[in-house]
Amino acid sequence: AAKVKNKLEGVWRLSKLGVPVGEDPGKDCLGISEGLLQAIAKVIEFPVASMLPEEAFSVVRKSFDARKILKEAKFVYTVDLDVKTLLELEPRAHDFIFRLEPKLGLVEHIPPEKTVSGDLISVVNECKRVNSDAVINGNGVPHHHGGRSKPKIAVVGGGPSGLFAALVLAEFGADVTLIERGQAVEERGRDIGALVVRRILDMESNFCFGEGGAGTWSDGKLVTRIGKNSATVLAVLKTLVRFGAPDNILVNGKPHLGTDKLVPLLRNFRHYLQSAGVNIRFGTRVDDLLVDDSRVVGVRVSDSADQLHSSSQDLKFDAVVLAVGHSARDTYEMLLSRNVELTPKDFAVGLRVEHPQELINSIQYSDLASEVRKGRGKVPVADYKVVQYVNDKDEDLSESSSKRSCYSFCMCPGGQVVLTSTNPNELCINGMSFSRRSSKWANAALVVTVSAKDFDLLNLTGPLAGIEFQREFERRAAIMGGGDFTVPVQRVTDFLQNKLSETPLPSSSYRLGVKSANLHELFPAHITDSLRQSLSMFDKELPGFISEEALLHGVETRTSSPVRIPRSNETYESTSLKGLYPVGEGAGYAGGIVSAAVDGMFSGFAVAKSFDLFDGTV
Ligand code: FAD
Repeated sequence: AAKVKNKLEGVWRLSKLGVPVGEDPGKDCLGISEGLLQAIAKVIEFPVASMLPEEAFSVVRKSFDARKILKEAKFVYTVDLDVKTLLELEPRAHDFIFRLEPKLGLVEHIPPEKTVSGDLISVVNECKRVNSDAVINGNGVPHHHGGRSKPKIAVVGGGPSGLFAALVLAEFGADVTLIERGQAVEERGRDIGALVVRRILDMESNFCFGEGGAGTWSDGKLVTRIGKNSATVLAVLKTLVRFGAPDNILVNGKPHLGTDKLVPLLRNFRHYLQSAGVNIRFGTRVDDLLVDDSRVVGVRVSDSADQLHSSSQDLKFDAVVLAVGHSARDTYEMLLSRNVELTPKDFAVGLRVEHPQELINSIQYSDLASEVRKGRGKVPVADYKVVQYVNDKDEDLSESSSKRSCYSFCMCPGGQVVLTSTNPNELCINGMSFSRRSSKWANAALVVTVSAKDFDLLNLTGPLAGIEFQREFERRAAIMGGGDFTVPVQRVTDFLQNKLSETPLPSSSYRLGVKSANLHELFPAHITDSLRQSLSMFDKELPGFISEEALLHGVETRTSSPVRIPRSNETYESTSLKGLYPVGEGAGYAGGIVSAAVDGMFSGFAVAKSFDLFDGTV
C-alpha cells in the first residue's frame, strides 16, 4: 500500500521527450506546447494529449539535437509531472500514473522530500537552522580564534570561486574581506574599452583581472561536466538567477549568459555581499602572505591601480581563501617563495579557429540553417564540440606509441576573439560573446594536451614549468604579430600545407588587427603535427571545417591552470600551509565558471566548518 501511495505523490521526471522542430515553438519557448504534450502522453500512455493540463508539467531541461544520425532534428525535453496538480485537474490520469514504472534514464519517481532545492542563500539558511546550536549568535565563542565572535576571513580574488566562497562565509556570519586586484565592472568596462579601442593594456584591470574574474567578458557558457542536474550546480545557477540571470539558464540544455547579462548580475552580486557585511576592496593586490608559526595570519596588499606610489599594508586575518585564477603568475611566484607546495599540472595549448557562423550553421544543420537568423530564429546558433586522439611523435619525429588528445575548447558561436594578455610583451587570446550570439563569426580553441614531457623538451622544470611554457609561446606570438597586440593568423588550408597565407585574409572578429604569419612555426614540430592531424580528423566529423574561409589565430595557452596547489580533500586547507585555502581554477580544482563557483561554494562550507560556524550537516 505504501508503494502505491508513494507513486501517487511527489513528481515523476520524464526524460528524453523528443519534439520535432516543426512541432515546437522554438528555442526561446520553455513552456508546455502541444507537441510536448503529445510526447508526454505517449510516455505515460494517456490516450488524449489535449486533455492533459499544462499546469501539471514543468520543463526541467530543453536541448536542441541536430545530430546527423537522427532522421530529423528535434528539441529534447526533460519534464516534471506534478502528481497532485495533475490529479486535481484531470482525475482520469490516476490509473495511468498508478501504472507508471521507473525506467532507467527515461522515467524517474522523485518523492516529495527530494523535490525542493533553493539557491545558495536559502541552502545556507537551512544549514543554519539545522545547526542552530553551533551557529554564532553573538555569544558564541569558537575555540579557534581566541574569544572574538566572528572569524576574520580574507577571500583573495573576485572571480566566480571567490564570489561564491565569500557569499557562503558571509551568510554563515564570518567577517569577510574580498580583495580583488582589478576594478569593479563599471570601471573595468572602461579599461577594456581603452584596450580594444586605444590599445592601452591595464595590467591589473583587463579581460582576466577585475570583478567577476576571467568569466565576465566571456561567452558566459554555464555548461559544466560536473552534472547539470546535480543539486550543487542547481544551487549555483539559482543563485545567479537571484542576482538577475534569466531563469531560462535553469532549463536550457546549454545555458549561456553573454557579457551583457553578466555585468549587471555581478553588480547585484556585489550589492548583496556588501549588504551582508562583506568589505570589498577593488584595486588591491595581495603581494605576500603573512606567516607566523607555519600558519597564515594575514596578507600584505598594495594599491594595484597606483603603480608609482604603491605603498603596502599588512592586514590580519584568521584564514585566507586564495581564489586568484590561473593568470596570477606573480602570485604563484610569491607562493613558491613562501614554500607553499605547488605541483605542475597538464593543460592544453593551441590556436583559436574562426569560421563564418553561417558556415558552421550549414555544416551542423543543413536545411535548418536558415532557421538560425542571427540568434533570433527558432533554433539556436550552431556550435560544435570535437575531440580526437592523435598519434604523438616525439621530438626527433620517430614514432612513439603514446596518444595525445586534441579537442575544441570554449567554442563561442556568434562571438568574437578577444585579447587575454596580462602583460604587453605576451599575446594570448580567448573568445567572448553577447547573449544574442549574433556576430557573423564562430570561434573555438583547437588545443592539444601538454605535460611535463613537453616542458622538459624546452628545458623547463620545477613547479612553474607550465607557466614558463605558456609564456614562451605567448612571447613568440607577440613577436609574430609584430607588436601592438596584433594577432598572427593563418588560413586553416595554408596551415595544413605549411605556407604563409596571402592577403586578403578572411575577415576576423578580433578588433586589434591580424597579420599573416607562419603559425606552423610557433609550436615545437610535434605539437604542430598534432594540430594538423586533428584538423583533418575534425573535418571528417564536420565536413567543411577545413575551409579557405577558416582562420587560425595564435595563441591559445590559458585553457586551464598549469599548476595545482595541493589541499586536503576534506578541509580544503593547503597541505603545506595552515590557514591557506586554495580554491577555483588557479588552484587547479576547477575549469570554467560553474565548476569554479561550485568549488568556491564548497570551500566556503569547509572554512565555515573549520571555524565552527556550523557542524557540517548540509
Ligand atoms: P578567475 O575568474 O580567474 O578569478 C580570479 C580573480 O582573482 C581575478 O579577478 C583576479 O583579478 C584576482 N586576482 C588574481 N591575483 C590576485 C592577487 N594577487 N590579489 C588580488 N586579486 C587577485 N568559462 C566558462 O565556463 N564559460 C565560458 O564561456 C568562458 N569563457 C571565457 C572567456 C574568456 C575570455 C576567458 C578569459 C575565460 C573564459 N572562461 C569561461 C573561463 C572562466 O572564466 C574561468 O574558468 C573562471 O572564471 C575561473 O574562476 P576563478 O574564480 O577560479 O578565477
